[in-house]
Amino acid sequence: MNPNASFDNMTESSAPPSFKEKLHVGRPNVGNREALLARINDMLDRRWLTNNGPFVQELEQKMSEFLGVRNCIAMCNATIALEITTRALGMSGEVIVPPFTFVATAHALQWQEITPVFCDIDPTTHHIDPKKIESMITPRTTGIVGVHLWGRPCAVNTLTEIAAKHKLKLIFDAAHAFGCSHGGRMIGGFGDAEVFSFHATKFFNTFEGGLVATDNDELAQKIRLMKNFGFEGYDNVIYIGTNGKMTEICAAMGLTNLESLDEFIQTNHTNYYRYRQGLSGLPGVSVIEYNEAERNNYQYVVLEIDEKMAGVSRDRLVEALHAKNVIARRYFYPGCHRMEPYRSYFPHSRLLLPKTERLARRVMLLPTGTAVELEHIDAICVLIKRIINGSILS
Ligand SMILES: *Cc1c(COP(=O)(O)O)cnc(C)c1O
Repeated sequence: MNPNASFDNMTESSAPPSFKEKLHVGRPNVGNREALLARINDMLDRRWLTNNGPFVQELEQKMSEFLGVRNCIAMCNATIALEITTRALGMSGEVIVPPFTFVATAHALQWQEITPVFCDIDPTTHHIDPKKIESMITPRTTGIVGVHLWGRPCAVNTLTEIAAKHKLKLIFDAAHAFGCSHGGRMIGGFGDAEVFSFHATKFFNTFEGGLVATDNDELAQKIRLMKNFGFEGYDNVIYIGTNGKMTEICAAMGLTNLESLDEFIQTNHTNYYRYRQGLSGLPGVSVIEYNEAERNNYQYVVLEIDEKMAGVSRDRLVEALHAKNVIARRYFYPGCHRMEPYRSYFPHSRLLLPKTERLARRVMLLPTGTAVELEHIDAICVLIKRIINGSILS
């Protein structure tokens, strides 16, 4: 709850609502403070602050149970987790990825001099278009990284078939998809491995953190060593490794937030439907949907703006909301292919990615999570209505 984020007015007839404090996308959810502080005290008493401490072990075990995956490896963040996982799988050369994702998906590959090959998306799902993948495979291709954007599972089954057919490694960037399912099975158990992010802006956080989930024991063992400099025992280094370890204080936050997971999801769910109700019938504004037959975390309220129908562009709408202290965000604008170094490496990629180009001009996110009140959401919906029907100058 953020008591300062109150607003002056929200009735339809009076002056337009305006928030006194900025309302942000991705304001962190924080579980029970006493439980967290008690754990931190235990940690200090033990003087075991990092290096596979008891909280990290407990978190990994709880994650294994929750996700139904044999191996869960806690990491310092999802970016390093992606780097280590791709390296442990022996990916090299070229790896096929969607361009409509957070830039870390591509950077984790390029950091190791693996070329991310951008495959256009399906505008209905926002995910990599499985029908386009096979035409992008070359003799240098070693893998595919699917992204479960917004927590909605990408085309897991088709990607799995394509990877098997062409003997490619397959991992999923599941940074958005903690607590979500595909075909009734928790995300975490698909592909060679899946990688979650527990960054503060994700609905479940460990301050910063990440997790690799895999049913492949051999791969898991390799990742465990690689995230600890390649040490096997006290003096014996058997791989090139790096430092990908999660600290105890981060695991303490994770264990604490795990106890509030249902509440976080419930809040996101309620907020999401409040927005849908408040925005229903507005021309040119659609809220992306979640499959109610699956488990979802509802952490993103994603709008697609059709400029012609709405009479206002996505960018003007975001700008007008910012002027009222609603910090709506364009995600993942303008797409990885238009960020460096990819923009320079592939100067013509815009022409090859028309669906991504179009979607990147249409998508925006609204604030949600436990820091946002239902009355804030009602006021935001009133604001958007007024911007669209022109009574607030955009
Ligand atoms: C947040 C995010 C990441 C990176 O996660 P970190 O834990 O911050 O490194 C990677 N991919 C996607 C899709 C993300 O949203």
